Amino acid sequence: MDNFPFLVPNLVKKESFQHLFSQIESSRRYSNYGPLNSLFEEKVVNEMFDHVGSAVTVNNATSGLMLAISQCKRPKARYALMPSFTFAATPLAALWCGLEPYFVDITEDTWCMNERMVDDLLEKLGEEVAVVVPYATFGTDMDLTYYQKLQDAGVPVVVDAAASFGSTGDDGHFGKGFSGLIVFSFHATKAFGIGEGGLVYSGNGQAIGQIRQAGNFGFSGARESSILGLNSKISEYTAAIALATLDVFQEKTSVRQTLYKWYVKYLTGLGLPEKGWIFHNCRGIVPHQFFPVLCPEEEMNRDIVAACANRQVELRTYFSPACHQQKLFASCPSTSLQVTDNVSKRILSLPLWEEMTEHDVKTIAERLAER
Ligand SMILES: *Cc1c(COP(=O)(O)O)cnc(C)c1O
Repeated sequence: MDNFPFLVPNLVKKESFQHLFSQIESSRRYSNYGPLNSLFEEKVVNEMFDHVGSAVTVNNATSGLMLAISQCKRPKARYALMPSFTFAATPLAALWCGLEPYFVDITEDTWCMNERMVDDLLEKLGEEVAVVVPYATFGTDMDLTYYQKLQDAGVPVVVDAAASFGSTGDDGHFGKGFSGLIVFSFHATKAFGIGEGGLVYSGNGQAIGQIRQAGNFGFSGARESSILGLNSKISEYTAAIALATLDVFQEKTSVRQTLYKWYVKYLTGLGLPEKGWIFHNCRGIVPHQFFPVLCPEEEMNRDIVAACANRQVELRTYFSPACHQQKLFASCPSTSLQVTDNVSKRILSLPLWEEMTEHDVKTIAERLAER
C-alpha cells in the first residue's frame, strides 16, 4: 500500500453475529439489559476480570463518565480534578455533572496525571473536590495504588480508561478489584471497537448496581425514578456484536502488540531516539489503538503532520490541543501545565490498524524519518 490512512476500523463481520441476531428475533428482547447484554457483562467479569467485581454496559464512554461522576461525586463540592492531556469527553462529563474541571499537569515519564500535584490540591481545596478523574493514558496499565488510597480515604475516583479495555499487567486486567469506577470505551476507533458502546467496571458491586439503575432513567424496582438518571443502555444488537468481538479479542490484541513492537524496532533502527524522539513509557500488555510518540523538542507536531501528509501518511495529534487549550475549557482553573504544554506541542499519533504489515510499518517509519 502506498497511501496510509491513520485508522481503518476492523469490526467483526456479520457472519460472526448473525446467529445472535436470529436469537434476538426469536426472543423479541431488543434492549433493557436483555439476555445477550447480561451474557456479555458476565463473560467480561468472569473471563477478563477473573470473576472479581461487577460491570455494566453503557452506550458510550462519555455517558459512562457522566453516570460514574454523577453517582459518586461528593455532594455540594465543586471541582473534578483531571489531566488536561485527555480527550474532551472527560471535562465535558464533569460539566454535565455541574462540576468545574480543575486541570492538573502530567508527569514526563508516564504522561498520566501528576499524583504529587493531586495531593497538593486535595490539601488546598479540601472538601471542594467532588471527584478525582485520572486518565490511563493510551491504554497504559497505570498503577492505581495511589487512587485506591484516595478512594479508601473517601475521595471518589473515576478512572477514564477509554483505551484500556484488554490491558493487562502482573495483577491481571487493568483495574481489577479497584473499588472506584473505571470507564472503558468500545467506540469503533478503539481496539475493542463495536461501533458505539462502553463499560463501567468496579470491584464494588453496589456502585455498579447504582450505575445500572441510573442508566435506566434512575428507575427503582417500582419503575419510579428514584435517583438522577438518563438512558445509557445498549441494544441487544450491540450486545451481539460485543459478544462476537470478545471471541476474537485475544487475536486482535496480539496483532496490535506486534505492530507496536515493529514501530519501536524500525523507529529505533532509523536512529530517531538519538535525535530526541521519545516513545511512550507504556506499562503492561496493551491492545494499542495507535502509536504515540513525541517529536524532538525543537520541532512542532503540526509541521510533521503536514510533511507526512505530503508523503501519503496520515498522522494525528492525540491529545493536542490539550483540553485547557480548547475554547470551552480555557477558563478552567489549573496547576502549572508545563509538561502538558510541552507534550501537546510534540505529540504525534502514528497509524495503527489490524491489516497493516511489517513492510507498511517500515515504510511509515522511513517516510517519517526522511520527511
Ligand atoms: C475515546 C475516548 C473517550 C470517549 O469515548 P466514547 O465511547 O466515544 O464516548 C473518552 N475519553 C478518552 C480518553 C477517550 O480516548
